[in-house]
Amino acid sequence: MNIFLLGASGSIGKQTLDVIREYNHKLIGCSLGRDKDYAKKVIDEFKPEIVCLREKTGFENKYPDIKFVYGDEGLLEVSRYKNGMLVNALMGSVGLKPTVEAIKARKDIALANKETLVMAGDIIKKLVKEYGVRLLPIDSEHSAIWQAIKGEKHEDIKKLIITASGGSFRDKSRDELVNVSVSDALNHPNWKMGSKITIDSATMMNKGLEVIEAHHLFDVPYEQIETILHQESIVHSLVEFKDSSIKAQLGVSDMRMPIIYAINGGNRVEYNNPLVLGDLHFKPMDFKRFPMLEYAYRAGKMGGIAPVVLNASNEAAVTLFLNGKISFLEIEEIVKKELDNFENFTPSLDEIILMDKKIKEKYLGGE
Ligand code: MG
Repeated sequence: MNIFLLGASGSIGKQTLDVIREYNHKLIGCSLGRDKDYAKKVIDEFKPEIVCLREKTGFENKYPDIKFVYGDEGLLEVSRYKNGMLVNALMGSVGLKPTVEAIKARKDIALANKETLVMAGDIIKKLVKEYGVRLLPIDSEHSAIWQAIKGEKHEDIKKLIITASGGSFRDKSRDELVNVSVSDALNHPNWKMGSKITIDSATMMNKGLEVIEAHHLFDVPYEQIETILHQESIVHSLVEFKDSSIKAQLGVSDMRMPIIYAINGGNRVEYNNPLVLGDLHFKPMDFKRFPMLEYAYRAGKMGGIAPVVLNASNEAAVTLFLNGKISFLEIEEIVKKELDNFENFTPSLDEIILMDKKIKEKYLGGE
């Protein structure tokens, strides 16, 4: 398989490179972050044809056979380049436009970038249909649902049940959250992930974004999407059918499994990381403890520009928190304030990008 990997320096990106190496796929194009030593390592090992970097680095003379492109426009060039599958492992709203470009270039999309569907689910779904490409989820919850509904009829689905570990503060009360530090928040019990998503897990916004994603990916109304606390992160999600049967997908907390499944188009291939079954615990979701999840449902149900407002204000607030500018609980306050104060409309792609930019500039200035 010819693969284009955006976000090759991130956590999902690195694990995707492991999968590409192990299963002899071909990395045709990728985007790499600021770490020059890491970029050099990836380029030397995988010898891609096209590489997107943040800025010029001097690699251009060193690798005359590689086409180097730069910045946000460079991401689009990689997405358009030749044929193959795009693995979108970019973090944040920057992932949206490359997905659109890749669909228009008739590439199948293996999607780890949540913002693509959260911000523009309706537009993306229309494009996917129009260009006849496949949208394959990499997120573990959506991979689980995808596996559970295989061979089932859509009208037989009663509800999707998305599991949530509870994040790094799951045992803390709201009073105990007042003075938590950035490093406390970054300490996730089950998954080793990037810092943005780890904070989103702690606020439960990550689950909220996943609910919106699931709504778009599987065409299920919000009223039929539930979340449940499951501290072990072994049951990756469940689907209940009209006869009250429930199918779940279980596995160790290893993102390589959903990556392999997506890259192989939903076909099983050998991979050895067996799960040793033990105790599993489930608890009803607590919306009072995790108000961000309620905000996400609200934004999802409103539709239009609302999920963009939700996502942009959250991204801005998480950045402020990670930079030590606001407290943990102020993340929620910023998101709530933005969601309480906007006028809804059905946006175009450009209007989505503009709203995203506007909200982030308001909180982050030129950062
Ligand atoms: Mg997930």
